[in-house]
Formats: sequence, structure tokens, C-alpha cells
Amino acid sequence: MGKSLQIMTVIPGRLHGFRLARAVKCIRIGHAASSIVMVCLKGAQGWLSAFRAVLRRRDRGHRRAGAVMLLLAAVLAPDSVGAACAPSALTVAVDIGHGPASPGATSARGRSEHAFNQELAARVRDHLVSRGVAARLVLTEAGGAPDLWDRPRLARAMGANLLLSIHHDSVQPQYLERGDLEGRPARFSRHAQGHSLFVSSKNPASDASLAAARAIGRALADWGLAPSLHHAEPIPGENRPLLDKALGIHDFADLIVLKTAAMPAVLVEAGVIVHPEEETRLRDPFHQDMLAEAIARGVLEACPVLTGQP
Ligand SMILES: [Zn+2]
Repeated sequence: MGKSLQIMTVIPGRLHGFRLARAVKCIRIGHAASSIVMVCLKGAQGWLSAFRAVLRRRDRGHRRAGAVMLLLAAVLAPDSVGAACAPSALTVAVDIGHGPASPGATSARGRSEHAFNQELAARVRDHLVSRGVAARLVLTEAGGAPDLWDRPRLARAMGANLLLSIHHDSVQPQYLERGDLEGRPARFSRHAQGHSLFVSSKNPASDASLAAARAIGRALADWGLAPSLHHAEPIPGENRPLLDKALGIHDFADLIVLKTAAMPAVLVEAGVIVHPEEETRLRDPFHQDMLAEAIARGVLEACPVLTGQP
């Protein structure tokens, strides 16, 4: 970890919690209704997302803060990401976890995991495409959700250097409680929150998979996002070996999509949707953009190892 410093109150009363971490990387400029407004100096996408979030706010102070941020970015942020490797050399298969027939977990407020996965996967694809990467969603010819075993096969047919599977998380049933959320009966848990990353030690490119997961983990950490470690808990259904505790990377050796992929593969659990407050964050377009930007930036950082370019 490089230098870290905190500058409080840049524009009095408006811009507080100004934070520079890892030698000028992320700035935290305050709280939106449901998310922390942060911007990254590196990565134009992060900047644009944050700027949009700032502009959405009505008061002039926040608009002024946005203008200052953008100016700072122009001065301080040479976007060096991907410089070591041409993004056009990368093809990424973005897998939308689950499908309409088996939609995965159910959020605290009753929304399907598949719906969350669809939104975030599309954003990840868009971020990658805007950076010059050939990124495509893994879909059947008819545009539907492929069979689990077909997903790695379709990724291979695309010529993908990376299979990226996008999911949202839950917890073991014993942690779920019944209660009320906004006056409606709900089933939720505050046992865990945060993202988790998975690779398979049985994937033929497990080293490259881990390198990509690490790059994604670091990019998520740049935004100040902390991983959840609940999948490493020594309880039935979890107990996943931790490969990198600080970045929340686990080995899930027999996960079909990861194990049977012919190319490096990483599964991203973007956050825990049974956690009421995390669910709210995960539905926030700004938070989604932040996650997508980090995932895309991590993929680009791993470009040399994924493409075999120096
Ligand atoms: Zn899932």
C-alpha cells in the first residue's frame, strides 16, 4: 500500500472526507442517499461515473465539487491502465449468473439474483467495450440463458481470453431471519456484506485466473470496497479455501463454470443481496457503475497475463 492521506473539507460544507489513497487514486467526496460518492483519479470510467453522480444532485455545491474533481482528474490522471497490453487483444465472455428458470438467490426485498446479475453484467460488458475490449454476454443463439455446461463452451467459441461470471450473493439459511422491511414481510440477514471472488484450482489456467481475480480485487479495493469472508467460514456449505484473504479470493475447485472453462475464469459475487442495506446499494446505478468500472479495470490490468503479451 502506498501513501495515504486525508484532506477534510475542500469546498466548505460540501466536499468532505476527501481521501487520497495509494498515491493519488481514490477520492471520497461524501455520501449520496444510498452510496458513498467516490471518484478514482485513475480510470476515466470511474471519473465519469462519479461526475454523473455528482451532477445528479441538485445543489450547486455538489456541481461545483464535480467540476473541481473533473479538473483535478484532467491534471492528475494520465490513464495508464492497459498501456502494457492492447485492449483489442482481449476477448471477454461475460456470463450472467443463473437464468429465468433458476434465478439463484432471492434478495431481502424479494428480487431475484438473476435480475441483479443481468444489470451488472451488462454494465461490465459496456465498461469493457468502451475501453476497446471485445466483450460479449454469454447467451444462447436465441438470447436466452445457456445451460451451465454450455457457458464455458460458448466462451470458447467466442475465442475468449477470460470467462467472467457475474453473481450476487446470499448466506447460509441459518443466518436468515424473518422481519419487516418498509412495512413488508421480508427474509434477510446482516450476517455478511461485501464482494467475494472465486477461481477454480482445477481450471487449466488457474494461475492466470488467480492473477485476474487479484487484479479485480485490487481494483475493487481502490474504491474502498471491502470483501466478505463469509464463504471461508468453517461451516457446512462454506469452508472455501481462501487464496487471498485481503482481496476475498477463494478456491471453488469444482464449480462447473470455472472448472470446465478452457480459458482463465473468475466468478464475481458482487455483494450480498439478502443484506437489506447492501441490497439498496447494489440497486444504485452509481454503485453498479463503480463495481463495473473496477471489474473492467482489473480485467485490463490482467491483460498481459490473459493474452500472453509482455
Ligand atoms: Zn449466483
